[in-house]
Formats: sequence, C-alpha cells, structure tokens
Amino acid sequence: MFKPQPLRLLVIGGGAAGVAVAWNVLRFAERPIELVIVDPSEAIGLGVAYATSRDDYVLNVPAGRMGLALDDPNHFVDWAGSGADDFISRRKYGRYLQDSLDKEIRHSRFVDFRHLRTEVTSIDLSQLELKATTSDGPLGTFDKAVLAVGLGSLYQPEFTKTIDGAAGYVPDVWAPGLDYASGVIACIGTGLTFVDHALAALRDDPSREVLGFSRTGWVPESHLPKREPAWEVPPAARKTAAGLVEFIDSAGSAWRAAQDGVRHDLPEIWRDLSESEKNEFLQSHWRWWNVRRHRAAPEISIELRNQLESGRLEVIAGEISDIKTKTSGFQIELSDSRAFDVDQILNCTGQDLDVVTPLVSRLLDEGVVSRGPLGLGLSADFDNYRLRRSDGTLNSNLFAIGKILLGERLETTAMPEIRIQAAEITRQLLVE
Ligand SMILES: Cc1cc2nc3c(=O)[nH]c(=O)nc-3n(C[C@H](O)[C@H](O)[C@H](O)COP(=O)(O)OP(=O)(O)OC[C@H]3O[C@@H](n4cnc5c(N)ncnc54)[C@H](O)[C@@H]3O)c2cc1C
Repeated sequence: MFKPQPLRLLVIGGGAAGVAVAWNVLRFAERPIELVIVDPSEAIGLGVAYATSRDDYVLNVPAGRMGLALDDPNHFVDWAGSGADDFISRRKYGRYLQDSLDKEIRHSRFVDFRHLRTEVTSIDLSQLELKATTSDGPLGTFDKAVLAVGLGSLYQPEFTKTIDGAAGYVPDVWAPGLDYASGVIACIGTGLTFVDHALAALRDDPSREVLGFSRTGWVPESHLPKREPAWEVPPAARKTAAGLVEFIDSAGSAWRAAQDGVRHDLPEIWRDLSESEKNEFLQSHWRWWNVRRHRAAPEISIELRNQLESGRLEVIAGEISDIKTKTSGFQIELSDSRAFDVDQILNCTGQDLDVVTPLVSRLLDEGVVSRGPLGLGLSADFDNYRLRRSDGTLNSNLFAIGKILLGERLETTAMPEIRIQAAEITRQLLVE
C-alpha cells in the first residue's frame, strides 16, 4: 500500500521562538511529519530569557500577551492561573513553554518529534532538498528549515576591554552561577537588565549598594496596572520617524496606548518607511523608543523608586571614559572627571543589535542569505519569512524567525511578535 513520505522539517535553535514554531507544527499537522529541533541546551524552550533559577525576575509583558495560541488569548493566563494584567516570573513562563510543547508531543498523531543536543554548522541548499550538518556530523536531508537562532551575543562596551577577564567583572550576567559581590556593585546600562540585577542584589543583602551608569540616566518606564487598549495610528503619522514620535508625544499621559498602537503595527510601518526615515528612527529615536517600549512591571517600578529614594540605589548619567583595576575592585572614571570605587561590575547593556553566529556568518559568506535593510539581520520576504539569497532570489525552503529579522521588521524580539511569526511560518511549513 502507498505510504506518503513524511514531511521533514528542521528547526535550528530551541529557544522560545524555535519551540513556538514546533508547538504550532505539532498542533496543526494533518499529515506525517518528522520534526527535528536542534539546540545544544539540555532543556529547550528557555533560551537566555527564561533559563533562570530565580523566581524574582519577572516578565516585562503582561500575562495576557504572552500566550502561544493566537486562537486562545487566555492560553498562558489559564495555565498560570493568573490575571491578564499580571506579571509572572520568567522562570514560570519557561515552564509554561516546556509544558505546552510536551503536551502537544504527547497528543500528536502525525508528528515524530526529536530534539538533538548539538549545533547546526552548515546548510547545503544546492539541491531541491536541504542538507544540514552539525558539529557531530551530517544530520540528514530536510524539506524545509527555520532559522530560530535567537538573540546573539551580549554587547561588550569598548571601555570594558581593559577589565575583560578581571575577577569581579561579569561580562555575561545571564551565564549560570552569577554571585553578587558584597559592598558596591556597578551596573553598566540602566535598562531592564539593570533593573533585574540591581533589585535582586539589593533584595538578597540589605548592606549592598548599587550604582547604575548610562549616558542618559534614563530608567525603564512602568506599565500601568491595567493595560489601556492600543490607539490606532493615523496614516499621516506612519510616514516619517518624526511623525511616529510626535503621535506618541502628543498623547500626553496616554502615551503608552499610543506607543502600543505603533508597536502593534511597527513591522508594516517599518517596511513602508524610506531608508532615510528608517535611519532617522534608529539614529535619533531608538533610545527614546526603547526606554518607553521596554517597560517594567508596576510593582517592580515601585520597588525601583523606593530603592532610589532610600539611597541604596543610584543612577548616574555620564560617559564612562575608563575603568581601572585596583588591588581590590575597580575605579570607574567618567569623562567629566567624576570617579567611583566599586567592588563588582555587571555588564547590563543587553544584547548586541546584530545577531552574528558562526552559522549565520557562513550562510552570508556562501550567499545563501543576505543582509537585511540598513545591514541589520537578514533579508527575508515580509509575508512568508523566506530568506533572500545574495542574488536577490528567495530560498524556497529556508525561513527565519525572531531577532534575525530586525532589519525587516524592527519589532521582532518579544513573544507578542514571535508567537504571530511562529503561526505564520508554520502555515508556510505545512503547505505542500
Ligand atoms: C533577560 C531577558 C528577558 C526577556 N523578557 C521578556 C519578556 O518578559 N517578554 C517577552 O516577550 N520577551 C522577553 N524577552 C525577549 C526574548 O527575546 C524572547 O521572549 C524570546 O526568549 C526569544 O527567543 P529566541 O528563541 O528567539 O532566542 P534565544 O532565547 O536566544 O534562543 C535561541 C536558541 O538558538 C540556539 N542556537 C543558536 N544557533 C544555533 C545553531 N547553529 N544550532 C543550534 N542551535 C542554535 C541557541 O543555543 C539558543 O538556545 C527577554 C529577553 C531577555 C534576554
């Protein structure tokens, strides 16, 4: 009897995005599928964001916007037993992703699922099918593959080169085993990563002090306890970077609802902006956008304010010009001659704008993929997520999700966007 050949799918990267794709494939498959997800981590679904052993790092997006299912807005809320406006711990969210995947694996009638703990090193697209190789050797042949390689590496400011490797300097604050020092801790950067670490260090030991350094001294804005519906963005405001800023600014105290409206449509707005307007947005408004866009949970913002008022936490606006290693600890010098003695330095500047991994570099060198708009991320078709080759043609069977699409979509790193992309890519994967 004729037995149909299974569709062979490969997902490269098992962070939240790769798992969101796998979850959709498992859920919507209606024919035999072999689904392989490759990621060196022991547990998939966590990535940098949700692989934490602490319960006091919380999501910066309300629970009602973090569910995997587009057809069931309460998917995460129901699982967590929370309200839609609650801010749940990131650790718990990681368990939700793993639990949701496990459930679909158990119930799937069509999908043979495997997670391989290794790294994809190359993809050969010269034939109709796609051949992948890992650091352990050839992996086999696939019909389609998704690049879900994630956030890339952390940004390392130039002035940290002199202290790289020094005891007491932590270049990667998300690597396992971080111990906060006693005494004075300096955080470089004052965004959400700073908020996580500063508050955790202060909670753990009441005798600690924390200094946060950034050029602007801006700290993240707060979410409202109850989310207001997003505003519609008028057509005129969508045409220029200044128009978008003006729309949000002129909303006054309702700026969050206005910004949420822009964020919701930003991939399309970004696609339609001219290259010079895109440049203008990144050069002149990106910091301004991020400080409002990456909001802290209301209870975290209150704690932050209380710690700032208590004097145990201080935010210093200024340009770091040098960091000197001392017999014990460091001296941080600013360009205006202020200097600060600290015991430990945490790099809280966050992820590099670009995602450069050995696999991505190799695919670029081979011309299998090409740079995205403004040289950011990779170039892909906006509607079907197929990656574009250096000759301008689209790969028929290689797709991408998440931060690697930064140049194409700008808003592309968080779950409210990733879950939409995962559903749309799955439709492309499952069509004949
Ligand atoms: C600290 C932090 C907190 C965050 N909080 C939130 C939040 O509250 N809400 C929200 O919506 N978003 C949050 N985000 C944004 C976050 O980017 C997304 O939610 C999501 O985790 C991104 O998942 P990802 O799979 O794209 O990337 P990643 O988590 O980076 O996963 C990518 C995976 O791909 C693997 N990989 C890379 N190359 C290869 C290869 N060649 N072969 C095999 N595997 C490979 C890596 O090992 C990694 O496991 C946060 C981000 C961070 C860093």
